[in-house]
Parts: sequence; structure tokens; C-alpha cells
Amino acid sequence: PKPHAGRIALVTGAASGIGKAIAQRLAAEGACVVVADLDLEKARAAAAEIGNSDVAIGVAANVADGTAVQNAVNEALLAFGGLDLVVNNAGLSLSKPLLETTEADWDLQHDVMAKGSFLVSRAAAQALIEQGLGGDIIYISSKNGVFAGPNNIAYSATKADQAHQVRLLAVELGAYGVRVNGVNPDGVVRGSGIFASGWGANRAATYGVKEEDLGQFYADRTILKREVLPEHVADAVFVLTGDELSRTTGLHVPVDSGVAAA
Ligand code: NAD
Repeated sequence: PKPHAGRIALVTGAASGIGKAIAQRLAAEGACVVVADLDLEKARAAAAEIGNSDVAIGVAANVADGTAVQNAVNEALLAFGGLDLVVNNAGLSLSKPLLETTEADWDLQHDVMAKGSFLVSRAAAQALIEQGLGGDIIYISSKNGVFAGPNNIAYSATKADQAHQVRLLAVELGAYGVRVNGVNPDGVVRGSGIFASGWGANRAATYGVKEEDLGQFYADRTILKREVLPEHVADAVFVLTGDELSRTTGLHVPVDSGVAAA
């Protein structure tokens, strides 16, 4: 059997970018997948790319809305009869310097990522604990949650919040066999909607490079000189949630071609 056969996964923000790649990879490894995102049609389209409703469904869930989050977990239980693996991936980046960051900017970043992943983890943990079979919670945090970068205070602060949620929940949920680990990507330009939706232009301006050269720029500043793609983040999620790392919890794995190590 495939490594994740029989497992049921919920991935937030999975209609696009890294989340979509994670949903596709987990399905390829045998899991049934719930693709959760803001827009129902986009979530359903991403699920349909994976397969029919026996293996993937799309649900609308704004992760900042506790009722919507509970509904998404309920849909997983209803459609597939359980829940084993949850990925907190939904996010956005406003990328502003301190003096341009409004109170509303701060609230939005923290509602979606800090509060959103808390709501998803809480609803998922309840289902995992009731099921009594352990499970996995993954946070897609960021290199920016650990290291300082320019013009990104609200985003980076909420990524640091997510990183600490990993440690806190690893401690709190360990007794139930629930492992909680994080992945810290950096520089995923191609295939990321965050870059497509204006962040690319912002980062290009910040670093003084042309937007079309941004993927190469990020690759060149890494130790490995290798571009990071959504698939590489999905690789880390697969390994972290697999049997080979069954004694690993509270870990943060960089997927950044070495930027955080330099
Ligand atoms: P993306 O824009 O392609 O994907 C983000 C998805 O989240 C979108 O489908 C969006 O609709 C969804 N989303 C946004 N707000 C939501 C909400 N309130 N509820 C539910 N879904 C919501 O961007 P991506 O690059 O794939 O980013 C995915 C995650 O990876 C984010 O958390 C991001 O911060 C993180 N990350 C990305 C990079 C990178 O280099 N691209 C680096 C570090 C971390």
C-alpha cells in the first residue's frame, strides 16, 4: 500500500500554490484529501484535479471564522469518516514597512495566520483526540518567522506566532499521539499566488531586481543555488507526516535551499 493509504488529510489554502502542491502530494501517497480555501469553486476545482469525490473534496472555509473551520472539519468526517492529518497553510502577505502598516493590516495578517491556524488546530485536535488514533498537525510557517527581513513586520510576527504554536501544541497534544511539526519555506516564487498577487512586485522593488528575475534572485542567494518550488515544501510535509519520523514532534524544517543556515 501507499505510505499514506487510509489517511484523511485537511489542507487549508489548498486551492493555490504550496497548499495545492501539498494536497496533490498527500493524495499521490494514498491519502484522501479535503481542499479548504476561501472560494468554493476554486477549492472544488483543485480537488477535481486530484481525483473524484472518493479521494478529494473541496470545501469553502475562511480559517479566520471558527464556525467555517468547524464545518470544514465536519465535512472531512462526513465525507471520509475520519481525520488524521491537518496542514495549516492558508496565508497571505501584505509586505509593508512598519510606518505603512495599518491596524487593519496587522489584524488581517493575524486573523488569517495566527488566529486561523489556532482555530483549525483546535477543531482538528478535538476530532483527533475523539478518534483516539493520534495524527499529525503541520504548520507552514516561514523563514520570516525566525529571521528578520525587510518590510514585513505584520506577516513575520504572525509567522513567529505560528512557529510557537508548533512547540506549544507539540507539548500539549503529544500525550494523544498527535505530532505537531512546522515547515519554514522561503523564496517560493514560481507557483505561489502570494507572489502573483502583488508580493512579487513588492519584493522585486525591495531588492532592486526585475520581477521576472525574482525566482533566479532568490535561488542565487541560497547556499544550494537551487530554486524552491511548492513541490519541495510538499516533500517536507510528506516526510514529516510519515512513519519514518514517528518520534519527531515540535520540529521546524527549513525548505529554503539553505538561506536560514547562512
Ligand atoms: P498562495 O497565495 O498561492 O496560497 C495561499 C492560499 O491561501 C490561497 O489559495 C488563498 O486563497 C488562501 N487563503 C488566504 N486567506 C485565507 C483564509 N482566510 N482562509 C482560507 N484560505 C485562505 O501562496 P503560497 O505561497 O502558496 O503560500 C502558502 C503558505 O506558505 C502561506 O501561509 C505563506 O505564508 C507560506 N509561505 C510562503 C512562502 C513563499 O515563498 N511563497 C514562504 C514562506 C511561507
